[in-house]
Amino acid sequence: MVLVYGNSEHYDDIEPIFTTSRFGKPVIQIGQYRFNKRSDSKGLKSGWTCVKASNGCRATITTVENIIVKYNNDHNH
Ligand SMILES: [Zn+2]
Repeated sequence: MVLVYGNSEHYDDIEPIFTTSRFGKPVIQIGQYRFNKRSDSKGLKSGWTCVKASNGCRATITTVENIIVKYNNDHNH
């Protein structure tokens, strides 16, 4: 199940880009948003949080084997 909140009219146009930050950490870029991999991710299933999570953004991604299985588009910015 994909949970989509807020402004989602461009959701179908989203193409996630798997990349790395300048520090070598895994990053997913979706449109204007970037997500950092959670440090407690284990195995094939990974959790990702928006880079603005420290500012209260609650958007998250769950991936399994680098496929997005869940995208909570609840950005506050
Ligand atoms: Zn966000």
